[in-house]
Amino acid sequence: MPELPEVETVTQSVKKHIMGKCFSSLDVNWKKVLDNFTFYDFQTSVKGRVVKNVYRRAKYIIIDFEPGILAIHLRMTGKLYLSQRSNLEKKHVSLCMKIDDNFLIFEDVRKFGRFYLYKDMNILNKKLGVEPLDEGFSEKWILKNMKSKKRQIKSLLLDQSFVCGIGNIYADEALWYAEIHPLSISNQIPKRKVLKLREGIIKVLSKSIEHGGTTIRDYTYDFSYVGNYALELNVFGKQGLPCVRCKARIIKTKVAQRGTHYCPKCQKV
Ligand SMILES: [Zn+2]
Repeated sequence: MPELPEVETVTQSVKKHIMGKCFSSLDVNWKKVLDNFTFYDFQTSVKGRVVKNVYRRAKYIIIDFEPGILAIHLRMTGKLYLSQRSNLEKKHVSLCMKIDDNFLIFEDVRKFGRFYLYKDMNILNKKLGVEPLDEGFSEKWILKNMKSKKRQIKSLLLDQSFVCGIGNIYADEALWYAEIHPLSISNQIPKRKVLKLREGIIKVLSKSIEHGGTTIRDYTYDFSYVGNYALELNVFGKQGLPCVRCKARIIKTKVAQRGTHYCPKCQKV
């Protein structure tokens, strides 16, 4: 599943090709991909408007027309990329939008990905928490918000209304970095470790973005590489292998219904 770094990588790649341009047509192969709008809405509210900005908010790719935004969520298997052909004959292409001489293609094997059309960011901002790579995710913020909540830390980190965009891989990696057990209760974690956790979250996400993400595979036609952050992982997918810090064997268990990896020796409750 694409996580924050992958979505950021896709966003930056798509941005290069569509800034300052206008969408001229829409073709839909899979109706449900348009979540809250119709072909008619596209004609009246998207077609012919200039793309003023493209950015990521949580795991949404936002195409901003001012006024009006398209928000795209890739979900499990969505791929968003530019192509010189419409690719409509391809089995898993859900939609394509013509933009200048190119096509913005949405390809999605599992079909959970969605496009939303909103007036502005208010609806999304209301349900999404702080951005982990923004200034708002400060030491003061995390100390205050961890103290005021009594939740298992792993599931709190995955809660999009708390901090948004930390997926399963990065939650495990950040907890390992801060030496915090995934079942620790948020308001009982010592201040020193909370600050280390914040540092870990920023570090693993930034580093993964630098590497183009962990799981990304040729999302756009101009990608000549695949994300290779997988090479930097310390616990995720490392069950049975020795911890690089203390040599104890990494354990895999389930927390909040998600596969969770941790070191039983250096991540104590
Ligand atoms: Zn260890």
